[in-house]
Amino acid sequence: MKEVRLRFAPSPTGYLHIGGLRTALYNYLFAKGNNGKFILRIEDTDQGRYVEGALENLIQSLEWSGIEYDEGVYLQEDGSIVQKGDYGPYIQSERLGTYRKYVDQLIDSGHAYYCFCSRERLDSVREEQKINGLVPKYDGFCRNVTKEEAEERIANGEEYVVRLKLPRDYDIKFHDLVRGDIVINSDDSDDQVLLKSDGFPTYHMAVVVDDHLMEITHIVRGEEWLSSTPKHVYLYEALGWDEPVYVHLPTVLNKDRQKLSKRHGDVSVDDFKERGYLKEGLINYLALVGWSPETNQEILSMDELIEQFSFERVARTGGIFDKDKLDWVNAHYMRELSIEELTEGSIPYLKEAGYIDDEFVQENEEWLHLLLETIQESLHRLEEVTEKVGFIFDDFKVEEDSLEVLKGETVPELLQGIKEELEDVDEIDIEYASGFMKKIQKRTGIKGKNLFMPSRVALTGVSRGPEFANVLVLLGKERILERIEYVEENYI
Ligand code: GLU
Repeated sequence: MKEVRLRFAPSPTGYLHIGGLRTALYNYLFAKGNNGKFILRIEDTDQGRYVEGALENLIQSLEWSGIEYDEGVYLQEDGSIVQKGDYGPYIQSERLGTYRKYVDQLIDSGHAYYCFCSRERLDSVREEQKINGLVPKYDGFCRNVTKEEAEERIANGEEYVVRLKLPRDYDIKFHDLVRGDIVINSDDSDDQVLLKSDGFPTYHMAVVVDDHLMEITHIVRGEEWLSSTPKHVYLYEALGWDEPVYVHLPTVLNKDRQKLSKRHGDVSVDDFKERGYLKEGLINYLALVGWSPETNQEILSMDELIEQFSFERVARTGGIFDKDKLDWVNAHYMRELSIEELTEGSIPYLKEAGYIDDEFVQENEEWLHLLLETIQESLHRLEEVTEKVGFIFDDFKVEEDSLEVLKGETVPELLQGIKEELEDVDEIDIEYASGFMKKIQKRTGIKGKNLFMPSRVALTGVSRGPEFANVLVLLGKERILERIEYVEENYI
């Protein structure tokens, strides 16, 4: 059997969109699940849309997410771009010499023609079509220019493009693994430009030639490309090439069923990375936007995704991107992090908040581990770390809602008890902290609700929070005494 080969073929026009990452992921999962190859090809024939740094960002985003490819374009540590694989170059602007030959072949076989129409003429045709309520498309003015005439005009220096010559009223048929059989009449399509006046191929020409030469077996891309597919199918026919399998993926939508756009919040892989989503969480969740496994399993590792993924279970209609669900999935992976991993991932956020610096990290490794272990269960993503540790780092004050708790009759006695208990203690370790409240109870005779709530409020400023014994260790003797004094002076 022929080796399965899939490609992700982004254009370097900006950051990697979360929908693009899902396209890459589905390509990757299918390739890996079928012992195939996954290729990264860069489609940069539209030089006007090139964005500086976009290529590097694309590669870095893929790398970060754990989607590895076997051939294509790579970024090295020194920032240089290299290409690996037997089918290169994998950057279309480096393949310009390749396309002309096939354009000529199409002209010779009568499947393409030279077009000399000026921009002004094309614009006025378009205007007229619009006025008449027609879908704007090329009117075929140059379809019958003979080859001889065309060659003469070219020799005289006239500018030209080459267009696909779609037969009139011709049904173009193809099968899509998600959408089934599709038939489109050529009259609903356009005589697409294949070669531009600057000698560059258009996307349509380049994509077909490259997919063929790179022996791509499955073309998996967003449904926004579906309307281009009939032209591609016809090009395969015209060039006498075997057609690949087509898969068009439903668009990733937000909860209001609109396309995810920058205007409505986060869309780039970088945005999600910055918010502190883990690659495992993002990938796991993204796989479920538009696809579901046969079981009801919702937590799947990359290996499980590879094993279970199939196009048959990709939905035909838009996949809804639900941030709450993403948070839920990501929280699972947050809990799975080792304490070292969690600490390492959290440090940049804590630094950014101004809570710690390098020196602090070096001197307080164990303390940081305990801090993060204490809040680990409550985190959905790394960015939330800063709000969860405010009770330690922020200037101490008691929250409005909790002030009432400090008005209890036994509170002064309770605070006095805590101070006395700590008098003979040098350092609070976890063992001592675990028995601390029992000791206070014995010492003061205060129990239950009157014991725990006011102690927590007096030391953390809020009435709920993580494991209290850990809080005691994290605060340490000095800070506990300071806070009690502050409470006595300001709230009682
Ligand atoms: N270059 C196209 C893009 O930017 C690729 C479309 C395709 O996969 O054929 O998405």
